Amino acid sequence: MVARVIPVDTFDLVIFGGTGDLARRKILPGLFRRFLAGQMPDGSRIIGAARSDLDDAAYQSMISDAIDEFGGPEKDDKEGRKAFLACLGYVQIDAKGTDGWKDLAKLIRENVVQAFYFSVAPSLFGDLAERLMKHKIATPHSRVVVEKPFGRDLESAKALNKTLATHFDESQIYRIDHYLGKETVQNLMAVRFGNVLFEPLWNNHYVDHIQITVAETVGVGGRGAYYDRSGAMRDMVQNHLMQLLCLIAMEPPSQFGADAVRDEKLKVIRALQPIEPHHIVRGQYDAGADTASYREDAENPRSFTESFIAMKTHISNWRWSGVPFYLRTGKRMKARSSEITVVFQSLGHSIFEGEESLPNILSIHLQPNEGMDLQVTIKEPGPGGMRLVSVPLDMTFADALGDSDIEVTDAYERLIMDVIRGNQTLFMRGDEVEAAWAWTDPIIAGWEARNDVPKTYEPGSTGPEDALMLLHRDGRKWREVKG
Ligand code: NAP
Repeated sequence: MVARVIPVDTFDLVIFGGTGDLARRKILPGLFRRFLAGQMPDGSRIIGAARSDLDDAAYQSMISDAIDEFGGPEKDDKEGRKAFLACLGYVQIDAKGTDGWKDLAKLIRENVVQAFYFSVAPSLFGDLAERLMKHKIATPHSRVVVEKPFGRDLESAKALNKTLATHFDESQIYRIDHYLGKETVQNLMAVRFGNVLFEPLWNNHYVDHIQITVAETVGVGGRGAYYDRSGAMRDMVQNHLMQLLCLIAMEPPSQFGADAVRDEKLKVIRALQPIEPHHIVRGQYDAGADTASYREDAENPRSFTESFIAMKTHISNWRWSGVPFYLRTGKRMKARSSEITVVFQSLGHSIFEGEESLPNILSIHLQPNEGMDLQVTIKEPGPGGMRLVSVPLDMTFADALGDSDIEVTDAYERLIMDVIRGNQTLFMRGDEVEAAWAWTDPIIAGWEARNDVPKTYEPGSTGPEDALMLLHRDGRKWREVKG
Protein backbone atom coordinates (compact mmCIF):
# COMPACT_ATOMS: atom_id res chain seq x y z
CA MET A 1 0.00 0.00 0.00
CA VAL A 2 1.42 3.37 -0.94
CA ALA A 3 1.16 6.07 1.73
CA ARG A 4 -0.95 9.01 0.69
CA VAL A 5 0.96 12.26 0.89
CA ILE A 6 -1.50 14.95 1.85
CA PRO A 7 -0.38 18.26 0.36
CA VAL A 8 0.17 21.25 2.61
CA ASP A 9 0.26 24.93 1.76
CA THR A 10 3.49 26.77 1.04
CA PHE A 11 5.14 27.77 4.30
CA ASP A 12 7.89 29.72 6.02
CA LEU A 13 9.09 27.79 9.04
CA VAL A 14 11.49 29.56 11.38
CA ILE A 15 13.35 27.29 13.79
CA PHE A 16 14.66 29.26 16.76
CA GLY A 17 17.44 27.07 18.12
CA GLY A 18 18.07 25.87 14.56
CA THR A 19 21.67 24.96 15.45
CA GLY A 20 20.72 22.93 18.54
CA ASP A 21 20.66 19.22 19.20
CA LEU A 22 16.93 18.74 18.64
CA ALA A 23 16.94 20.70 15.38
CA ARG A 24 19.90 18.74 13.99
CA ARG A 25 18.84 15.34 15.28
CA LYS A 26 15.10 15.38 14.71
CA ILE A 27 13.49 18.46 13.19
CA LEU A 28 15.62 19.01 10.09
CA PRO A 29 16.23 15.35 9.18
CA GLY A 30 12.45 14.92 9.56
CA LEU A 31 11.73 17.85 7.28
CA PHE A 32 14.22 16.44 4.78
CA ARG A 33 12.22 13.21 4.64
CA ARG A 34 8.98 15.14 4.19
CA PHE A 35 10.64 17.10 1.39
CA LEU A 36 11.62 13.86 -0.35
CA ALA A 37 8.09 12.55 0.14
CA GLY A 38 6.86 15.56 -1.85
CA GLN A 39 5.21 17.26 1.11
CA MET A 40 7.11 20.54 0.99
CA PRO A 41 5.51 22.64 -1.73
CA ASP A 42 7.71 24.71 -4.06
CA GLY A 43 8.58 28.03 -2.52
CA SER A 44 8.47 26.79 1.08
CA ARG A 45 11.38 27.83 3.24
CA ILE A 46 12.99 26.78 6.48
CA ILE A 47 14.96 29.43 8.32
CA GLY A 48 17.32 28.50 11.13
CA ALA A 49 17.75 31.19 13.78
CA ALA A 50 20.29 31.21 16.61
CA ARG A 51 23.16 33.29 17.97
CA SER A 52 25.95 31.39 16.15
CA ASP A 53 27.67 33.41 13.46
CA LEU A 54 26.66 31.53 10.31
CA ASP A 55 25.49 32.47 6.83
CA ASP A 56 23.07 30.48 4.67
CA ALA A 57 25.85 28.36 3.16
CA ALA A 58 27.39 27.50 6.53
CA TYR A 59 23.97 26.60 7.92
CA GLN A 60 23.19 24.41 4.91
CA SER A 61 26.51 22.66 5.44
CA MET A 62 25.72 22.11 9.14
CA ILE A 63 22.36 20.58 8.25
CA SER A 64 23.92 18.46 5.52
CA ASP A 65 26.20 17.00 8.20
CA ALA A 66 23.16 16.43 10.41
CA ILE A 67 21.46 14.55 7.56
CA ASP A 68 24.59 12.40 7.21
CA GLU A 69 24.38 11.55 10.87
CA PHE A 70 20.65 11.30 11.46
CA GLY A 71 19.02 11.23 8.02
CA GLY A 72 18.41 7.48 7.74
CA PRO A 73 18.54 5.69 4.38
CA GLU A 74 17.27 8.78 2.52
CA LYS A 75 20.57 10.53 3.11
CA ASP A 76 21.91 8.80 -0.02
CA ASP A 77 19.56 10.80 -2.24
CA LYS A 78 22.17 13.41 -3.27
CA GLU A 79 19.92 15.30 -5.70
CA GLY A 80 17.12 15.45 -3.17
CA ARG A 81 19.46 16.66 -0.48
CA LYS A 82 20.79 19.44 -2.72
CA ALA A 83 17.26 20.61 -3.51
CA PHE A 84 16.27 20.47 0.17
CA LEU A 85 19.31 22.41 1.34
CA ALA A 86 18.48 25.11 -1.19
CA CYS A 87 15.27 25.77 0.82
CA LEU A 88 17.26 26.52 3.98
CA GLY A 89 18.28 29.96 5.15
CA TYR A 90 19.77 31.29 8.36
CA VAL A 91 19.41 34.43 10.44
CA GLN A 92 21.76 35.26 13.28
CA ILE A 93 19.53 36.35 16.11
CA ASP A 94 19.65 36.69 19.86
CA ALA A 95 16.33 36.02 21.56
CA LYS A 96 17.26 38.53 24.23
CA GLY A 97 18.86 41.12 21.95
CA THR A 98 18.00 43.46 19.11
CA ASP A 99 20.23 42.20 16.32
CA GLY A 100 18.82 40.08 13.51
CA TRP A 101 15.12 40.79 14.05
CA LYS A 102 14.83 43.26 11.19
CA ASP A 103 16.54 40.75 8.89
CA LEU A 104 14.04 38.11 9.89
CA ALA A 105 11.15 40.51 9.38
CA LYS A 106 12.31 41.11 5.79
CA LEU A 107 12.45 37.39 5.06
CA ILE A 108 9.03 36.31 6.31
CA ARG A 109 6.21 36.47 3.79
CA GLU A 110 2.65 37.30 4.74
CA ASN A 111 0.87 35.28 2.08
CA VAL A 112 2.14 31.86 3.16
CA VAL A 113 1.70 29.74 6.29
CA GLN A 114 4.03 31.06 8.99
CA ALA A 115 5.26 28.83 11.77
CA PHE A 116 7.79 29.63 14.48
CA TYR A 117 9.35 26.64 16.22
CA PHE A 118 10.74 27.56 19.66
CA SER A 119 13.40 24.83 19.92
CA VAL A 120 15.16 26.70 22.72
CA ALA A 121 15.06 26.74 26.51
CA PRO A 122 11.58 27.69 27.81
CA SER A 123 13.12 30.70 29.58
CA LEU A 124 13.44 32.26 26.10
CA PHE A 125 9.81 31.76 25.00
CA GLY A 126 8.74 35.14 26.35
CA ASP A 127 11.64 37.00 24.72
CA LEU A 128 10.96 35.36 21.37
CA ALA A 129 7.22 35.96 21.48
CA GLU A 130 7.66 39.59 22.49
CA ARG A 131 10.14 40.32 19.70
CA LEU A 132 8.10 38.51 17.07
CA MET A 133 5.22 40.86 17.88
CA LYS A 134 7.30 44.00 18.34
CA HIS A 135 8.90 43.59 14.92
CA LYS A 136 5.52 42.74 13.39
CA ILE A 137 6.85 39.40 12.19
CA ALA A 138 4.08 37.25 13.65
CA THR A 139 0.48 37.79 12.59
CA PRO A 140 -2.79 36.47 14.07
CA HIS A 141 -2.42 33.56 11.64
CA SER A 142 1.11 32.56 12.68
CA ARG A 143 1.65 29.30 14.53
CA VAL A 144 4.04 28.80 17.40
CA VAL A 145 5.48 25.41 18.31
CA VAL A 146 6.87 24.92 21.80
CA GLU A 147 8.94 22.06 23.12
CA LYS A 148 8.86 20.23 26.39
CA PRO A 149 9.47 20.69 29.25
CA PHE A 150 6.39 22.85 29.61
CA GLY A 151 7.11 24.06 33.13
CA ARG A 152 8.42 22.11 36.09
CA ASP A 153 5.30 22.54 38.21
CA LEU A 154 1.85 24.09 38.03
CA GLU A 155 3.07 27.55 38.86
CA SER A 156 5.77 27.66 36.17
CA ALA A 157 3.42 26.07 33.59
CA LYS A 158 0.83 28.74 34.34
CA ALA A 159 3.48 31.42 33.95
CA LEU A 160 4.54 30.00 30.56
CA ASN A 161 0.94 29.77 29.40
CA LYS A 162 0.39 33.35 30.50
CA THR A 163 3.50 34.53 28.64
CA LEU A 164 2.40 32.84 25.43
CA ALA A 165 -1.19 34.00 25.86
CA THR A 166 0.00 37.62 26.09
CA HIS A 167 1.04 37.41 22.46
CA PHE A 168 -0.82 34.49 20.88
CA ASP A 169 -4.27 32.97 20.88
CA GLU A 170 -4.49 29.36 22.14
CA SER A 171 -5.45 28.34 18.58
CA GLN A 172 -1.97 29.44 17.47
CA ILE A 173 0.00 27.48 20.09
CA TYR A 174 1.26 23.95 19.41
CA ARG A 175 2.74 22.27 22.52
CA ILE A 176 4.61 19.23 21.29
CA ASP A 177 4.60 15.86 22.97
CA HIS A 178 6.23 13.67 20.36
CA TYR A 179 4.59 10.55 21.82
CA LEU A 180 1.32 11.79 20.36
CA GLY A 181 2.87 11.83 16.89
CA LYS A 182 3.62 8.13 16.91
CA GLU A 183 1.74 6.06 14.37
CA THR A 184 0.62 3.57 17.01
CA VAL A 185 -0.78 6.21 19.30
CA GLN A 186 -3.04 7.44 16.55
CA ASN A 187 -3.83 3.88 15.67
CA LEU A 188 -4.94 3.34 19.22
CA MET A 189 -7.74 5.79 18.53
CA ALA A 190 -8.50 4.18 15.16
CA VAL A 191 -8.71 0.75 16.80
CA ARG A 192 -10.86 1.97 19.69
CA PHE A 193 -13.22 4.16 17.76
CA GLY A 194 -13.18 2.51 14.32
CA ASN A 195 -14.03 -1.08 15.26
CA VAL A 196 -17.13 -2.57 16.79
CA LEU A 197 -15.03 -5.13 18.68
CA PHE A 198 -13.32 -3.02 21.27
CA GLU A 199 -15.38 -0.07 22.42
CA PRO A 200 -18.20 -2.16 23.97
CA LEU A 201 -15.58 -3.96 26.11
CA TRP A 202 -13.57 -0.85 26.98
CA ASN A 203 -14.78 -0.38 30.54
CA ASN A 204 -14.75 -1.77 34.06
CA HIS A 205 -17.17 -4.58 33.17
CA TYR A 206 -14.59 -6.25 30.94
CA VAL A 207 -11.17 -4.72 31.61
CA ASP A 208 -9.21 -6.10 34.56
CA HIS A 209 -6.41 -3.54 34.49
CA ILE A 210 -4.23 -1.45 32.20
CA GLN A 211 -0.43 -1.16 32.17
CA ILE A 212 1.70 1.50 30.54
CA THR A 213 5.46 0.92 30.43
CA VAL A 214 8.09 3.18 28.92
CA ALA A 215 11.47 1.53 29.51
CA GLU A 216 14.81 2.84 28.32
CA THR A 217 18.21 1.15 28.38
CA VAL A 218 20.17 4.40 28.40
CA GLY A 219 21.18 6.21 31.58
CA VAL A 220 20.94 9.94 32.10
CA GLY A 221 24.50 10.28 30.77
CA GLY A 222 25.18 13.65 29.16
CA ARG A 223 22.06 15.31 30.53
CA GLY A 224 22.60 14.24 34.16
CA ALA A 225 22.58 17.73 35.63
CA TYR A 226 19.34 18.66 33.84
CA TYR A 227 17.70 15.35 34.65
CA ASP A 228 18.62 15.56 38.32
CA ARG A 229 16.42 18.65 38.65
CA SER A 230 13.52 16.87 37.03
CA GLY A 231 13.38 13.06 37.52
CA ALA A 232 11.14 10.46 35.91
CA MET A 233 7.93 11.99 37.27
CA ARG A 234 8.48 15.37 35.63
CA ASP A 235 10.43 14.12 32.62
CA MET A 236 8.15 11.24 31.59
CA VAL A 237 5.01 10.73 33.68
CA GLN A 238 3.59 14.24 33.73
CA ASN A 239 3.67 14.44 29.94
CA HIS A 240 4.24 11.25 27.91
CA LEU A 241 2.66 8.63 30.17
CA MET A 242 -0.15 10.98 31.10
CA GLN A 243 -0.96 11.56 27.41
CA LEU A 244 -0.99 7.83 26.71
CA LEU A 245 -3.23 7.29 29.72
CA CYS A 246 -5.61 9.95 28.43
CA LEU A 247 -5.90 8.40 24.99
CA ILE A 248 -6.55 4.94 26.35
CA ALA A 249 -9.07 6.09 28.94
CA MET A 250 -10.92 9.00 27.35
CA GLU A 251 -14.56 8.91 26.32
CA PRO A 252 -15.21 8.84 22.58
CA PRO A 253 -15.10 12.43 21.33
CA SER A 254 -18.02 13.46 19.16
CA GLN A 255 -15.62 13.91 16.24
CA PHE A 256 -11.88 13.65 15.68
CA GLY A 257 -11.31 17.38 16.04
CA ALA A 258 -8.73 19.21 18.13
CA ASP A 259 -10.98 20.55 20.86
CA ALA A 260 -13.30 17.55 20.98
CA VAL A 261 -10.33 15.21 21.60
CA ARG A 262 -8.60 17.56 24.03
CA ASP A 263 -11.78 18.15 26.02
CA GLU A 264 -12.05 14.40 26.60
CA LYS A 265 -8.38 14.06 27.55
CA LEU A 266 -8.74 16.89 30.04
CA LYS A 267 -11.68 15.13 31.71
CA VAL A 268 -9.49 12.05 32.27
CA ILE A 269 -6.72 14.05 33.92
CA ARG A 270 -9.20 15.82 36.14
CA ALA A 271 -10.71 12.48 37.16
CA LEU A 272 -7.37 10.98 38.22
CA GLN A 273 -7.38 10.10 41.89
CA PRO A 274 -4.56 11.40 44.06
CA ILE A 275 -2.05 8.59 44.54
CA GLU A 276 -1.49 6.92 47.89
CA PRO A 277 2.23 7.07 48.84
CA HIS A 278 2.38 3.26 49.11
CA HIS A 279 1.17 2.99 45.52
CA ILE A 280 4.35 4.59 44.20
CA VAL A 281 7.81 3.08 43.93
CA ARG A 282 10.74 5.30 43.07
CA GLY A 283 14.11 3.95 42.01
CA GLN A 284 17.65 4.98 41.09
CA TYR A 285 19.91 2.75 39.01
CA ASP A 286 23.04 1.40 40.58
CA ALA A 287 26.46 1.06 38.93
CA GLY A 288 26.89 -1.89 36.56
CA ALA A 289 30.00 -3.76 35.44
CA ASP A 290 30.85 -0.97 33.03
CA THR A 291 28.19 1.64 33.62
CA ALA A 292 28.08 4.43 36.19
CA SER A 293 25.41 4.69 38.86
CA TYR A 294 22.66 7.29 38.60
CA ARG A 295 24.33 9.43 41.25
CA GLU A 296 27.63 9.29 39.36
CA ASP A 297 25.89 10.18 36.08
CA ALA A 298 24.06 13.04 37.77
CA GLU A 299 27.29 14.09 39.55
CA ASN A 300 25.27 14.36 42.72
CA PRO A 301 26.29 11.81 45.39
CA ARG A 302 23.31 12.75 47.58
CA SER A 303 20.69 12.88 44.84
CA PHE A 304 17.16 11.80 45.79
CA THR A 305 15.89 12.13 42.21
CA GLU A 306 14.19 9.07 40.70
CA SER A 307 15.38 7.50 37.44
CA PHE A 308 12.54 4.96 37.74
CA ILE A 309 8.97 5.19 38.86
CA ALA A 310 6.13 2.72 39.08
CA MET A 311 2.67 3.60 40.32
CA LYS A 312 -0.90 2.50 40.60
CA THR A 313 -3.64 5.00 39.94
CA HIS A 314 -7.38 5.06 39.41
CA ILE A 315 -9.73 7.18 37.34
CA SER A 316 -12.84 8.25 39.19
CA ASN A 317 -15.55 7.91 36.60
CA TRP A 318 -18.24 5.42 35.64
CA ARG A 319 -16.22 3.79 32.90
CA TRP A 320 -13.11 3.08 34.93
CA SER A 321 -14.22 2.86 38.54
CA GLY A 322 -12.29 0.01 40.20
CA VAL A 323 -9.87 -0.57 37.29
CA PRO A 324 -6.24 0.01 38.28
CA PHE A 325 -3.89 1.72 35.87
CA TYR A 326 -0.28 0.74 36.47
CA LEU A 327 2.33 3.10 35.06
CA ARG A 328 6.07 2.43 34.95
CA THR A 329 9.02 4.17 33.37
CA GLY A 330 12.75 4.06 33.94
CA LYS A 331 16.27 4.44 32.66
CA ARG A 332 18.88 1.67 32.39
CA MET A 333 16.24 -0.99 32.23
CA LYS A 334 16.43 -4.39 30.63
CA ALA A 335 15.23 -3.34 27.18
CA ARG A 336 14.04 -0.31 25.28
CA SER A 337 10.34 -0.80 25.09
CA SER A 338 7.19 1.31 25.25
CA GLU A 339 3.95 -0.54 25.53
CA ILE A 340 0.36 -0.05 26.59
CA THR A 341 -1.43 -3.21 27.65
CA VAL A 342 -5.11 -3.71 28.22
CA VAL A 343 -5.69 -6.90 30.20
CA PHE A 344 -9.28 -8.02 29.89
CA GLN A 345 -11.04 -10.00 32.60
CA SER A 346 -10.99 -13.77 32.44
CA LEU A 347 -14.22 -15.60 31.72
CA GLY A 348 -15.97 -16.48 34.94
CA HIS A 349 -16.31 -20.16 34.06
CA SER A 350 -14.32 -22.51 31.83
CA ILE A 351 -16.21 -25.29 30.06
CA PHE A 352 -12.93 -27.06 29.31
CA GLU A 353 -12.22 -29.39 32.19
CA GLY A 354 -8.94 -28.68 33.95
CA GLU A 355 -8.23 -25.65 31.77
CA GLU A 356 -8.34 -22.17 33.24
CA SER A 357 -9.75 -19.44 31.07
CA LEU A 358 -6.95 -17.16 29.88
CA PRO A 359 -7.47 -13.40 29.62
CA ASN A 360 -7.45 -11.61 26.29
CA ILE A 361 -4.65 -9.08 26.28
CA LEU A 362 -4.36 -6.20 23.82
CA SER A 363 -0.80 -4.85 23.60
CA ILE A 364 0.00 -1.66 21.80
CA HIS A 365 3.72 -1.35 21.09
CA LEU A 366 5.10 2.12 20.60
CA GLN A 367 8.73 1.15 20.30
CA PRO A 368 10.89 -0.44 19.10
CA ASN A 369 8.46 -1.95 16.54
CA GLU A 370 5.22 -0.02 16.30
CA GLY A 371 2.28 -2.37 16.19
CA MET A 372 -0.35 -4.19 18.19
CA ASP A 373 -1.14 -7.72 19.14
CA LEU A 374 -4.14 -9.32 20.71
CA GLN A 375 -3.68 -12.46 22.80
CA VAL A 376 -6.51 -14.86 22.08
CA THR A 377 -7.19 -18.32 23.40
CA ILE A 378 -7.11 -21.25 21.00
CA LYS A 379 -6.81 -25.00 21.24
CA GLU A 380 -3.26 -26.23 21.42
CA PRO A 381 -2.78 -28.02 18.08
CA GLY A 382 -2.52 -31.79 17.95
CA PRO A 383 -4.16 -34.73 19.64
CA GLY A 384 -4.47 -35.16 23.37
CA GLY A 385 -7.70 -33.48 24.29
CA MET A 386 -8.75 -29.88 24.70
CA ARG A 387 -5.75 -27.95 25.99
CA LEU A 388 -5.91 -24.21 25.75
CA VAL A 389 -3.12 -21.89 24.78
CA SER A 390 -2.89 -18.12 24.37
CA VAL A 391 -1.44 -16.91 21.05
CA PRO A 392 -0.95 -13.40 19.69
CA LEU A 393 -2.78 -12.11 16.66
CA ASP A 394 0.07 -9.93 15.48
CA MET A 395 -0.40 -6.64 13.65
CA THR A 396 2.97 -5.03 13.12
CA PHE A 397 2.02 -2.11 10.91
CA ALA A 398 5.00 -2.20 8.60
CA ASP A 399 4.39 -5.91 7.88
CA ALA A 400 0.64 -5.62 7.62
CA LEU A 401 0.63 -2.59 5.36
CA GLY A 402 3.89 -3.33 3.55
CA ASP A 403 4.85 0.30 3.28
CA SER A 404 8.30 1.45 4.25
CA ASP A 405 7.11 5.08 4.39
CA ILE A 406 4.75 4.22 7.24
CA GLU A 407 7.57 2.47 9.05
CA VAL A 408 9.97 5.38 9.00
CA THR A 409 7.66 8.36 9.35
CA ASP A 410 8.90 9.86 12.56
CA ALA A 411 6.65 11.47 15.14
CA TYR A 412 8.33 14.83 14.63
CA GLU A 413 7.73 14.80 10.88
CA ARG A 414 4.07 14.08 11.33
CA LEU A 415 3.62 16.71 14.02
CA ILE A 416 5.44 19.44 12.09
CA MET A 417 3.24 18.76 9.08
CA ASP A 418 0.19 19.00 11.36
CA VAL A 419 1.41 22.45 12.43
CA ILE A 420 1.61 23.53 8.80
CA ARG A 421 -1.89 22.12 8.22
CA GLY A 422 -3.18 23.94 11.30
CA ASN A 423 -4.33 20.75 13.00
CA GLN A 424 -3.93 20.92 16.80
CA THR A 425 -5.49 17.54 17.62
CA LEU A 426 -2.18 15.92 18.57
CA PHE A 427 -0.88 18.88 20.58
CA MET A 428 -1.48 19.57 24.24
CA ARG A 429 -3.76 22.43 25.18
CA GLY A 430 -2.75 24.81 27.95
CA ASP A 431 -5.45 23.62 30.36
CA GLU A 432 -4.41 19.97 29.86
CA VAL A 433 -0.83 20.75 30.79
CA GLU A 434 -1.93 22.65 33.87
CA ALA A 435 -4.28 19.86 34.96
CA ALA A 436 -1.44 17.34 34.59
CA TRP A 437 0.81 19.45 36.82
CA ALA A 438 -2.01 19.95 39.32
CA TRP A 439 -2.13 16.15 39.73
CA THR A 440 1.67 15.73 39.77
CA ASP A 441 2.65 18.57 42.12
CA PRO A 442 1.23 17.15 45.39
CA ILE A 443 2.90 13.79 44.72
CA ILE A 444 6.32 15.44 44.31
CA ALA A 445 5.66 17.72 47.28
CA GLY A 446 4.93 14.63 49.39
CA TRP A 447 8.31 13.09 48.54
CA GLU A 448 10.07 16.32 49.30
CA ALA A 449 8.30 16.69 52.63
CA ARG A 450 9.19 13.11 53.60
CA ASN A 451 12.75 13.24 52.16
CA ASP A 452 11.77 10.14 50.25
CA VAL A 453 14.84 8.14 49.19
CA PRO A 454 14.51 6.15 45.95
CA LYS A 455 15.35 2.44 46.07
CA THR A 456 18.39 1.39 44.06
CA TYR A 457 18.00 -1.14 41.25
CA GLU A 458 20.37 -3.16 39.12
CA PRO A 459 21.04 -1.72 35.68
CA GLY A 460 19.54 -4.00 33.04
CA SER A 461 16.71 -5.02 35.38
CA THR A 462 13.04 -4.08 35.50
CA GLY A 463 13.46 -1.69 38.41
CA PRO A 464 13.38 -2.18 42.19
CA GLU A 465 11.85 -5.30 43.70
CA ASP A 466 9.11 -3.16 45.27
CA ALA A 467 7.81 -2.35 41.80
CA LEU A 468 7.10 -6.04 41.24
CA MET A 469 5.37 -6.18 44.61
CA LEU A 470 3.08 -3.31 43.62
CA LEU A 471 1.32 -5.72 41.26
CA HIS A 472 1.96 -8.97 43.14
CA ARG A 473 0.01 -7.58 46.06
CA ASP A 474 -2.96 -7.23 43.70
CA GLY A 475 -2.50 -10.75 42.31
CA ARG A 476 -1.17 -9.40 38.99
CA LYS A 477 2.16 -9.13 37.27
CA TRP A 478 3.91 -6.68 35.01
CA ARG A 479 4.29 -7.50 31.37
CA GLU A 480 7.76 -8.64 30.44
CA VAL A 481 10.02 -5.78 29.33
CA LYS A 482 11.43 -6.92 26.01
CA GLY A 483 12.80 -5.02 23.06
P1 NAP B 1 20.54 22.83 22.65
O1 NAP B 1 21.26 21.77 21.88
O2 NAP B 1 21.17 23.39 23.86
O3 NAP B 1 20.21 24.00 21.64
C1 NAP B 1 19.73 25.25 22.05
C2 NAP B 1 19.56 26.11 20.83
O4 NAP B 1 19.12 27.40 21.26
C3 NAP B 1 20.83 26.32 20.03
O5 NAP B 1 20.50 26.37 18.67
C4 NAP B 1 21.30 27.68 20.51
O6 NAP B 1 22.09 28.22 19.50
C5 NAP B 1 19.98 28.40 20.69
N1 NAP B 1 20.02 29.51 21.63
C6 NAP B 1 20.46 29.50 22.91
N2 NAP B 1 20.35 30.73 23.45
C7 NAP B 1 19.83 31.54 22.49
C8 NAP B 1 19.48 32.90 22.43
N3 NAP B 1 19.65 33.72 23.48
N4 NAP B 1 18.96 33.39 21.29
C9 NAP B 1 18.78 32.59 20.22
N5 NAP B 1 19.09 31.28 20.21
C10 NAP B 1 19.61 30.76 21.33
O7 NAP B 1 19.11 22.33 23.10
P2 NAP B 1 18.19 21.22 22.40
O8 NAP B 1 18.55 19.89 22.97
O9 NAP B 1 18.20 21.40 20.93
O10 NAP B 1 16.77 21.57 23.02
C11 NAP B 1 15.99 22.67 22.58
C12 NAP B 1 14.65 22.63 23.30
O11 NAP B 1 14.00 21.40 22.99
C13 NAP B 1 14.75 22.66 24.81
O12 NAP B 1 13.64 23.32 25.34
C14 NAP B 1 14.71 21.18 25.19
O13 NAP B 1 14.21 21.00 26.49
C15 NAP B 1 13.72 20.68 24.16
N6 NAP B 1 13.84 19.25 23.88
C16 NAP B 1 14.98 18.73 23.39
C17 NAP B 1 15.05 17.37 23.10
C18 NAP B 1 16.29 16.76 22.53
O14 NAP B 1 16.25 15.55 22.23
N7 NAP B 1 17.37 17.47 22.34
C19 NAP B 1 13.93 16.55 23.32
C20 NAP B 1 12.76 17.12 23.80
C21 NAP B 1 12.72 18.47 24.07
P3 NAP B 1 23.22 29.34 19.73
O15 NAP B 1 24.06 28.87 20.87
O16 NAP B 1 23.91 29.36 18.40
O17 NAP B 1 22.48 30.57 20.02
